[in-house]
Amino acid sequence: MHCSPLLRVISLVSTYAAIAAAQDPAQLMQSPEIKAALEAAKRNEAHFIDEQVRICEIPAPPFKEQVRAEEMARLFKQLGLDNVRIDKAGNVIGTRPGAAARPNLVMSAHLDTVFPEGTDVKVKREGTLLKGPGIGDDCRGLVTMLGVIRALKEANLKTQGTITFVADTGEEGLGDLRGTKNLFNDSLKGQIDKFISIDGTGLSVTNVGVGSYRYRVTFKGPGGHSFGAFGMANPIQAMGRAIAKIDAFEVPTNPKTTFNVGRVGGGTSVNAIPFEGWMEVDMRSSDKNSLEAVNTKFKAAVQEAVQEENRRWNNRGPVTVSPELVGLRPAGSTPPDSAIIQTTIAASKIFGFDGRLREGSTDSNVPMNLDIPAVTIGGGGMGTGAHSLNEAFDTKDSYLGTQRALVLAVSLAR
Ligand SMILES: [Zn+2]
Repeated sequence: MHCSPLLRVISLVSTYAAIAAAQDPAQLMQSPEIKAALEAAKRNEAHFIDEQVRICEIPAPPFKEQVRAEEMARLFKQLGLDNVRIDKAGNVIGTRPGAAARPNLVMSAHLDTVFPEGTDVKVKREGTLLKGPGIGDDCRGLVTMLGVIRALKEANLKTQGTITFVADTGEEGLGDLRGTKNLFNDSLKGQIDKFISIDGTGLSVTNVGVGSYRYRVTFKGPGGHSFGAFGMANPIQAMGRAIAKIDAFEVPTNPKTTFNVGRVGGGTSVNAIPFEGWMEVDMRSSDKNSLEAVNTKFKAAVQEAVQEENRRWNNRGPVTVSPELVGLRPAGSTPPDSAIIQTTIAASKIFGFDGRLREGSTDSNVPMNLDIPAVTIGGGGMGTGAHSLNEAFDTKDSYLGTQRALVLAVSLAR
């Protein structure tokens, strides 16, 4: 075919545009395979809402996610994932190979809830409303992931890179992100190029991971009679000195950095010098350097407080202290102008995202701290009352969350 010079230029431009478009979620929407997958996601939504209820009624208290994990492993196998396994931290892992092994995108949601064993996890349905502890956080994330897997399968869509799906353990509270830490440090070490956590509801996008240090600090001394043994260092008074020092910390407001002495206890009687006092302290920041700085100040304050108390009483006692780290959630963030966040924003806008980036403490904290591209997204629908017994999830148009996750997964698995 003859091409005039002008037409040749146009055809070069359109070839370039086609290549560029392949990276862009909005253009990806024109692909027949994606259209088929999006239709499948919408068609299957009612089924996965039933699954959301069923999975949520399998209790998954902190450190006891195993029964729910086994059910997720069964579903991963049924949906055709390869090499479905449960790692030593209890994470359920399954692979959907792409044309190439890399990049390997991990898409995850968490198995655990904040609710203790024995909590009534029966879900009540009222119209589009589902009510039950954990129904949004994170049973929604788990089924959004299942909806993505099934839609990709039904559309027979081959991604360029590989997607590894994970239902992980220990996201909440003292679980301390142990599942995700194990993924990055052990079971998938060196094999994760990008990471999406689906946590909670709506079309939210979280690019900042608020980190925290949590301590239980125990002060000890011999103790004695308040009158008869007067003149010896006092563990609770040493703790009082430490609390006064912590209270005087100057911390940045941006990035927001916080500290809190949340619980105290100790002593046996008003007329006894205590042999023990303890406190629980929480410090947080979205910035890893600020978090390290406040942690360093905290450790120094505790030691100085004990030294001052012992000097005050001429080392009669004396008091000793042992700060025990009971929680560590690493801090980090993915820059708004990074490829993964720009792609997430573009994919989300198609489905009605408001454009606001959020801060949070989720499984993405771990990769963000390691500078591995990571983002946390909501699973669609609308949630209220997370972490309370009144938790509810409105399924109205929740398929949009599944579709957004699908477009994002295909966009990033390349
Ligand atoms: Zn969650």
